[in-house]
Amino acid sequence: MKNLGCIAAVLSCALFGAAFAHAAEPARTADIAKRGLKPADFPRWKQLVPNVYAYEDLLSSAGVTFTTNSLIVATTDGLVLVDGQDDPERGKVLVESLKKISPQPLKYVVVASDHVDHVGANGVLKQAYPGAVFISSPASLKTMTDQKRDVLPTETVADKRSLKVGATELQILNIGRGHTGGDLVVYLPESKVLFMSELYLHHVFPAMITAYPSEWVATIKKAQAMDVSWYVAGHGFIDDMATMKADLNESLKATEQVIAEAKRLKAAGQPCESEKNCPAFAQANLGPYAEMTLSASQAPRALARVYMELEGKLPK
Ligand SMILES: [Zn+2]
Repeated sequence: MKNLGCIAAVLSCALFGAAFAHAAEPARTADIAKRGLKPADFPRWKQLVPNVYAYEDLLSSAGVTFTTNSLIVATTDGLVLVDGQDDPERGKVLVESLKKISPQPLKYVVVASDHVDHVGANGVLKQAYPGAVFISSPASLKTMTDQKRDVLPTETVADKRSLKVGATELQILNIGRGHTGGDLVVYLPESKVLFMSELYLHHVFPAMITAYPSEWVATIKKAQAMDVSWYVAGHGFIDDMATMKADLNESLKATEQVIAEAKRLKAAGQPCESEKNCPAFAQANLGPYAEMTLSASQAPRALARVYMELEGKLPK
């Protein structure tokens, strides 16, 4: 039977050449091991368009190792970094990498996500580049002040700010809340690259511990309506343009599914008071999104957060 199965598989592949093309597509996962990669392969960065790089370093959670991503824009008048990394150790590696990319000083750091895995290395960045100006949303400045982060942004963007650095224009935009409540995105109008930070988790289950679930859906739809070539995610691999665009829709659908399931389960009287006390989780139908990286650890948190929203208990 086993051999027959193999023969059938070979025949179907031979008959449908597209099956081979499909097999060559990147594995639908954020887990580095499932992509055949090792920690020694990181950090790594790739040029998306001339002088714009997606930088990936590693983070582990719930036994899974995946990437945390930064955007680096190199200009003739300095570097711009959007989102840092987790801790001083990764900060030192990031500084070494920035120096390999360009001898120019780091001029701006945009805090698009205020979560520790994106700001924990900022002290090291500030030490290496004392002139760097840190920018966040007003909401993220408040969060970081409350959390006593070592580097606090000195400038904020509530809605929109255009930065011209060298010949490159960058737009720092608030297109709505989603993952942190202080979410910002950075758009490069010339190349149409959009760095979405944690508003886009690529093949990572919607992580909602501080999220505004239904606003997140609206914010992703806003991003989808923009004129974008390359959607860049805050976690998960940065694949080719077409894959990143298609998978943003997968991310949207996953978020919608979590919300729909939470509504259904709540209406059915299934409790979910917190991630640790969420009997509803066992009844949740997460469809294909149950296969996403970190689903086991993030799904109960996400359900609990949607319950909070349904009960009007989210922070303002
Ligand atoms: Zn993160």
